[in-house]
Amino acid sequence: MVNTRRPRVLIIGGGFGGLFCARRLAGADVDVDVTLLDRAAGHLFQPLLYQCATGTLSIGHISRPLREEFARHRNVTTLLGEAVSLDPKLRQITALRPDETTFTLDYDVLVVAAGMQQSYFGKPHFAQWAPGMKTLDDALCIRQRLFTAFEIAETLPPGPERDSWLTFAVTGGGPTGVELAGQIREVATRTLANEFHSIEPEDARVLLFDGGDRVLKSFAPDLAAKATTTLRKLGVELHLGVHVTDVGRSGVTVTPKSGGPQEQYEARTVLWTAGVEAVPFAKHLSEVLDIPADRAGRLQVEPDLSVTGHPEIFVIGDLVGRDNLPGVAENAMQGGLHVAECIRRELVGKPRRKYRYRDLGSAAYISRGKALLQVGPIKLSGFVGWVAWGVLHIAFLTGVRNRVSTVATWLATIARAGRYHRAFMLGNDTAIEQRYTWSTGDQQAPPG
Ligand SMILES: Cc1cc2nc3c(=O)[nH]c(=O)nc-3n(C[C@H](O)[C@H](O)[C@H](O)COP(=O)(O)OP(=O)(O)OC[C@H]3O[C@@H](n4cnc5c(N)ncnc54)[C@H](O)[C@@H]3O)c2cc1C
Repeated sequence: MVNTRRPRVLIIGGGFGGLFCARRLAGADVDVDVTLLDRAAGHLFQPLLYQCATGTLSIGHISRPLREEFARHRNVTTLLGEAVSLDPKLRQITALRPDETTFTLDYDVLVVAAGMQQSYFGKPHFAQWAPGMKTLDDALCIRQRLFTAFEIAETLPPGPERDSWLTFAVTGGGPTGVELAGQIREVATRTLANEFHSIEPEDARVLLFDGGDRVLKSFAPDLAAKATTTLRKLGVELHLGVHVTDVGRSGVTVTPKSGGPQEQYEARTVLWTAGVEAVPFAKHLSEVLDIPADRAGRLQVEPDLSVTGHPEIFVIGDLVGRDNLPGVAENAMQGGLHVAECIRRELVGKPRRKYRYRDLGSAAYISRGKALLQVGPIKLSGFVGWVAWGVLHIAFLTGVRNRVSTVATWLATIARAGRYHRAFMLGNDTAIEQRYTWSTGDQQAPPG
C-alpha cells in the first residue's frame, strides 16, 4: 500500500531558527505538515530586550504571537508547550502544558531550535539577586527593579543606604551588558533627570564588570575602543579583568583575574548578562541520543546539522556545537532556512547539502545617536552606525505592525526625553526564578 500521508515536521522552539524554518516550510511549494511547539506563545526579538527592560519599548513591540504569524498557513500548527522528553524509536515528543499536564506529538522530521538560557556558571542562586536577560519575564523583572530602585532611593535620607539603591551593577561586557549599562545611565540622566525632588537621578552609578581586558570582544578593537570612550562619557564605570564571584542582597564581590584581594561593591540592583548555557531539554537530548555536548551544553552535529545516527533529527541555532558557530540571530535564521531546504530537497529526491554559515556582521547600540556596526571590512560607529543599526533591527523585527510602532516609538523617544513603557508591577519577587507559570490552579495557595 502506498503511504500518501504528508511528512510531519515538528519544530521545537519558535525563536529565530524555528521561525525561519517554519516560514520557509509554510510555503505552498513544500508538501509537509509543520507543528511549531514553543513554551512561550510568541516569537521574541531578543536583540531589543534591553529596550523593553529600560522602558523604551513595550513587550508587544518585541514579541509577536506565533499563532498570528502563521494564521494564514494551513499546513502550520502552532502549539504552546514545553518539550520535556523524546522517544527516538517511536519518533515522539512529550510536551508539558502550562498546567503541567502532558501531551505527545509524533514526527517524521524533528528540528530542535530551543536556544540557550542564562548561565550563572554553576551558581544558580545568584539569579535571585541578579536577573538575567533572555526572556520577557527577565525584561519586566529588570524594568521593575530599575525604576523601583530610584523610587526607594527617593524615600531615603542621604547616606550609604540611599547610595546603594542608586548603584547598578551589570555583569558581562558583551553587547547586552554594554547596552543595558548605557541605557541605565540614559534613564538616569535624561528620562528621570527632572522628576525627583530628593535625589539627583544623574548621581546614579552604573558599574560594568567583565573578565576581559576590553568590552565588546566580538568587535574589532578600534570599534570597541570607541564604545569604551562613549560609555565613559555617559558615566558608566568600567571594571575590567575581574570576575564577579558572589552576588547577594546588598551587592557584588569581585575577584581580580590576575589575583589580589577581593572587592565589595554595594549595589541593590545587580543585572547578569555574563554567560549562557543550553536549555534543559538539550541535556535530555544529549543523553537519549548519545550526542556529545560542549561545556555550555551545545550539541555536536553533522555538517548538515543532523544528529549522528539520526538523519531525521536536526539541531539549529544557538544550540549547535560545531565549527565555533556564533550564538547570533543570523546563524539561527540561516540554520532554519538550511534545514527547510534539506527537507524540501529530500522530498524531490535530491541529496542534502552541508550547512555553510555566512557571517553578515554584528551590531551593538551604545547610547542615543551612537552604535557600532561591523560587516566584514566595513566598520561603522557614531551616528552613521546608529542609523544603520536602526535600519537593520527594524528589518528583522517580526510583523509590519511591530515595525511601524517601534519606529514611531523611537522617533518619539528621540524627540523627547520620555520613555513611554516604564510601567511596572510590584508583585511576586520570586518570579525571576519561575520562568514560566506552569502550575495548576489546584496547586495555588487557598484564599485567606
Ligand atoms: C539580550 C540579547 C540580545 C541579543 N542581541 C543580539 C544581536 O544584537 N544580534 C544578534 O545577531 N543576536 C543577538 N542575540 C542572540 C540571538 O538572539 C540568538 O542568537 C538567537 O535568538 C538564537 O536563536 P535560536 O532560534 O537558536 O534560539 P532562541 O531565539 O533563543 O529561541 C528558542 C526558543 O525555544 C523555546 N524553547 C526553549 N526550550 C523549549 C522547550 N523545551 N520546548 C519548547 N520550546 C522551547 C524558547 O521559548 C524560545 O522561543 C541576543 C540575545 C540576547 C539574549
